[in-house]
Amino acid sequence: MSIKVAVLGAKGRMGSETIKAITGTQDLEVVAAIDIDDTLDQLVSSGAQVVVDFTHPDSVMGNLEFSIKHGISVVVGTTGFNEKKFQLVNSWLALNPKVGALVAPNFGLGAVLMMQFAAKASKYFESVEIVELHHPAKVDAPSGTAFRTAELINEARKGANKSAMPDATVSQMPGARGAKIGDVQIHSVRLRGAVAHQEVILGDVGETLSIRHDSIDRTGFMPGVLLGIRNVSLHPGLTVGLENYMDLS
Ligand code: NAP
Repeated sequence: MSIKVAVLGAKGRMGSETIKAITGTQDLEVVAAIDIDDTLDQLVSSGAQVVVDFTHPDSVMGNLEFSIKHGISVVVGTTGFNEKKFQLVNSWLALNPKVGALVAPNFGLGAVLMMQFAAKASKYFESVEIVELHHPAKVDAPSGTAFRTAELINEARKGANKSAMPDATVSQMPGARGAKIGDVQIHSVRLRGAVAHQEVILGDVGETLSIRHDSIDRTGFMPGVLLGIRNVSLHPGLTVGLENYMDLS
C-alpha cells in the first residue's frame, strides 16, 4: 500500500519537483497538490498521511499547526526556522504524540554528508572556515546550510575541548573576515553563474583539507525528500536534519 502524500507549495520550484519525484515511485502517491489559493481542508479530505511543505517562511507555521493537529506527519523544507518556532512545533506535537515532523535545512544527501564529514574532521584540525557560494538572487547570507554547518562544527569542537582558532587579526575592514557563528568564520560569495556551493576548509600545521559540495540542480534534493517522506511517520516527534534518518555511524 502506498503512502498518501500532500504537497504544499505545489506550483513552486521545489513543490513541483517533489510531485514529479513522487510520481516516479511505486510506493508513494500524491493525493493533494495545494498552493496559495487552495484550502488546507484538502489535507484531511484527501486522506493524506504525510504533508510536504515547500512554501514560504510566513506560511509554514500555519500549515504545520493544521497538519499536526489533524494527525498528519510533516516533511518541511521551507526555511526560516528558529528556536521559538521549534518550541511552537513541539507544543503542537505534544498534543498528538504519534505524529512525526522532519525539518530539514538541506535535503541534498551530499550536502548532509558534507556537513557531517566537516563536523567530524573539525575535531582534528586547529582551524576551520566555511566559504559558501550562491547565485546573486539569494536574499539571505550566510546560507542556512552554512549556518547549520557552523553549528555542527561548534558542537563537535566543544565536545573535543578544542581551543580557540589561531587568528592574529587586530585591524580589518568591516566584513573582511566574514560572519562569525560561534568560533567559525563564514564567507558568503554571491556570483552570477553559481547555483549553491559550499567548501569547508580545515587546516593544521603542514596540511589542509577541503570538503566541498556543489548543488547543480534542484532535482538533487529529491532523493532526500523521498527519504524524508518514507521515514517521517516512523519517527514521532520533532527531528531537525535529514542526517537523523541516515546511517552515518
Ligand atoms: P517558490 O518557487 O516560491 O515556491 C513556493 C510556493 O508555495 C509558491 O507557489 C507559493 O505561492 C506557495 N505558497 C506560499 N504560501 C503558501 C501556502 N500557505 N499554502 C500553499 N502554498 C503556498 O519557492 P521554492 O524555491 O520552491 O522554495 C520554497 C521554500 O523551500 C523556501 O523557503 C526555500 O528556501 C526552501 N528550500 C529548501 C530546500 C531544502 O533542501 N530544505 C531546498 C530548496 C528550497 P506564491 O508564489 O503565490 O506565493
